[in-house]
Amino acid sequence: MKQSQMLIPTLKEIPADAEIKSHQLLVRAGYIRQIASGIYSFLPIGRRVLRKVEEIVREEMEKIGAHEMMMSSLQPAELWKESGRWNTYGSELMRINDRHDREFALGATHEEVITSLIRDEVKSYKRLPLTVFQIQNKFRDEKRPRFGLLRGREFLMKDAYTFNESFESLDESYNKMFNAYTNIFRRLGLNFRAVIADSGQMGGKDTHEFMVLSEVGEDVIAYSDTSEYAANIEMAPVVTTYEKSLAAPKNMEKVATPDQKTMQGVADFLGHGLEEGLKSIMFKVDDRFVMVVTRGDHEVNDIKLKNLYSADIVELASEEKTKELLGTGFGSLGPVGVSEQVEVIADSAVEVLVNVSCGANEEGYHYVNVTPEKDFEVTQYADIRFIKEGDPSPDGQGLITFARGIEVGHVFKLGTFYAKEMNATYLDDQGKSQTMVMGSYGIGVSRTVAAIVEQYHDERGITWPANIAPFQVHLLTLNPKKEEQQQLADQLYDQLIDAGIEVLYDDRKERAGVKFADSDLFGIPLRLTVGKRAGEGIIEVKERVTDNQSELNQSEILSAVS
Ligand code: ATP
Ligand code: MG
Ligand code: MG
Ligand code: MG
Repeated sequence: MKQSQMLIPTLKEIPADAEIKSHQLLVRAGYIRQIASGIYSFLPIGRRVLRKVEEIVREEMEKIGAHEMMMSSLQPAELWKESGRWNTYGSELMRINDRHDREFALGATHEEVITSLIRDEVKSYKRLPLTVFQIQNKFRDEKRPRFGLLRGREFLMKDAYTFNESFESLDESYNKMFNAYTNIFRRLGLNFRAVIADSGQMGGKDTHEFMVLSEVGEDVIAYSDTSEYAANIEMAPVVTTYEKSLAAPKNMEKVATPDQKTMQGVADFLGHGLEEGLKSIMFKVDDRFVMVVTRGDHEVNDIKLKNLYSADIVELASEEKTKELLGTGFGSLGPVGVSEQVEVIADSAVEVLVNVSCGANEEGYHYVNVTPEKDFEVTQYADIRFIKEGDPSPDGQGLITFARGIEVGHVFKLGTFYAKEMNATYLDDQGKSQTMVMGSYGIGVSRTVAAIVEQYHDERGITWPANIAPFQVHLLTLNPKKEEQQQLADQLYDQLIDAGIEVLYDDRKERAGVKFADSDLFGIPLRLTVGKRAGEGIIEVKERVTDNQSELNQSEILSAVS
């Protein structure tokens, strides 16, 4: 394709709002443009890259017997009400009304739509297991859209769904999907880890996230330096329990345990959603409140926990206050007491040390300014500590290292949650009605493009792996005013096109310096420069990543680039 005819608006300057490399480079190199916060258009070369990633995803899906379909983005509220998520999904779900004032959601994910389709169309065990997928824009009204394609409000996702007869069969589908994901991210050249993740409130059990290792990742993962063990930090607690005898606490200052409404108020103040079922403990320090959110047995949503146990505890109370508080006070969750020690470990990150003490509290109240054991005896005393760097790995192999990760994929055993809520059943081989068992599997296709750029760039621009680059060859002339250069380049262009090679031809009447700078920015693997030796049929070949250069004769070019 000819550059003079293509919309590739490059920028010399770093866009003011772009904090991270992938955002900066994708905008500067003319791959994407922002339309509104978290909403982007893919320009022609951006679209080409997106399609390459899509194609790899599509191939690996088809290899495991998944079939592509396309569901509507507009989803009637009724379906979301059936699953219950109309209420629980919160403000991330974009909602609109039609002219008759009927409610709709813009698809944030498609469990409801696919479940309603399958329950109507699949009635017999003979049609199971069944796997479908689609590659389609999703809409989520993210609280903080940022980092360009990494966290958008409209973004491209591959979502797949499996329907099985049993949990055993689900395990098989899940493993196939897991392996397909591994293949996909390998083929994309990414340095990634599959980590154990939090199943949150979805009711499912097994779930893994695929994390691309990157400093700009919003998640922290803990992994073993010598084994396969890897977990989202939220999922890697070390727990030890022992028992002691108990005496009820006496003469202690009581503070009412906050009700859901108060917690919601604090959550709003903190700038976080608080989903139903989320439990938290509030401490009162002077006139200020500190909120610690618990997880694990307390079914806390992963994201909320992550955010809440990071900066916000510090926001509400200074580090000193927090420590002071933890040295002396403890809070409770009604009948089961949980005292929390919060330790500020790095920057704004906070580690929560949880001491669970059962029975030490009264329902509806917790006590302040008491120390378990000192002020009262404790029966069951569980010491739950989140894993630290250098700890032995929970699988007994190696030591734990922390790394930041970008969640590019997520595989999830949903179990029967949606099928039950939405009544998706089939007849088994005995003619008996059974509930379907489901799995759900996502890949952030547009996010993955950004993740690739995070791992593939240098100071001059993007350095795409060849199978994802928008073109394989970038052809340009040093001086298009020179007749012999122009001629040779035109010839080469035709030859490359005829040979089916993806070539971008910079035929613009620009200075060589401008063309080279753009070329480096784009990150096309091979550059062919027709320059001073055009008269002899000699072309300069340069590899983008290694900077290796050679001069080749026109006749050698085809074999060198294919
Ligand atoms: P996150 O924790 O980053 O908010 P998520 O857990 O909410 O992501 P899933 O519901 O698991 O996301 O969706 C499947 C995949 O879609 C994610 O693994 C991620 O790659 C991608 N994705 C999710 N939200 C966004 C977004 N706002 N922008 C781009 N990609 C996203
Ligand atoms: Mg999210
Ligand atoms: Mg997530
Ligand atoms: Mg996820």
